Amino acid sequence: MEENSCNVPTSVGFSVPARVSRETKPDATYVNVAGVRVGGPEVIVIAGPCAVENQEQLFETARSVKKGGASILRGGAFKPRSSPYSFQGLGEEGLKLLSSVRSETGLPLVTEVMDTRLVAMVGEYADMLQVGSRNMQNYPLLKEVGMTRKPILLKRGMMASIEEFLLAAEYILNQGNDQVILCERGIRTFETSTRNTLDLSAIPMLKRLTHLPVIVDPSHGTGLRWMVPAMAKAALAAGADGLIIEVHYKPEDALCDGYQSLDLYEFATLMTDLNKIAQAVGREITLPVS
Ligand code: PEP
Ligand code: MN
Repeated sequence: MEENSCNVPTSVGFSVPARVSRETKPDATYVNVAGVRVGGPEVIVIAGPCAVENQEQLFETARSVKKGGASILRGGAFKPRSSPYSFQGLGEEGLKLLSSVRSETGLPLVTEVMDTRLVAMVGEYADMLQVGSRNMQNYPLLKEVGMTRKPILLKRGMMASIEEFLLAAEYILNQGNDQVILCERGIRTFETSTRNTLDLSAIPMLKRLTHLPVIVDPSHGTGLRWMVPAMAKAALAAGADGLIIEVHYKPEDALCDGYQSLDLYEFATLMTDLNKIAQAVGREITLPVS
């Protein structure tokens, strides 16, 4: 084990898997999401509703987040809900709505795929496939998305260590797909005042250990609308390559995660502040396609 002059171990105590390791590949990997580059000197903001609910909700939200400066649109069509009685998403109908809002706005889409049997179908609509927190250790799914040539947004398992997170990414790279973005979205701890504990120390740690881009989800990371701006700003200050933020045109009516979704005005205000933080750390937020 490496040691510094005070005999404090400086190694992380595990070996970083080969393909994701920065030792193997010192240069940053750029992930290309339908023309939007992630992992470069610039930072990107992904925004949109937790779930696609209907045309009005999706289009109003998408137009507004684009105006605010988001360059990629999020929206779930297949939702992993804790209760089987909660809204499960619109399925393929939701993917069709996403595809039509992309035609209008030009924003690339990220949407979740939960099932190996649906990878091909979701891949026909999405510009980037999301593997959610609950599926970070679904190894057949990791292999299946690794066999596509789509960018993958891999969210950290809510009970996953950094080592397990990197190993999950390694599964995808092992199939020949290096277009992987890592997303810190909060982990479960003893703390109950927030939905999860957003582990911002994961940002510098991951940036040191791997060449893959690292983004942060302050919405699931806190579960509290009022706390999202503070943690979004902190994430950029700590070196994140981007953010994924839940935004809803009427959060109080949302079918999923309304309590952690920013309204349109809150998102626009946050973007103004994020531009200042980005500038302070020598970066710029990528503008949406015109
Ligand atoms: C989501 O982004 O909609 C989501 C379900 O996130 P997570 O997998 O991080 O809970
Ligand atoms: Mn959500």
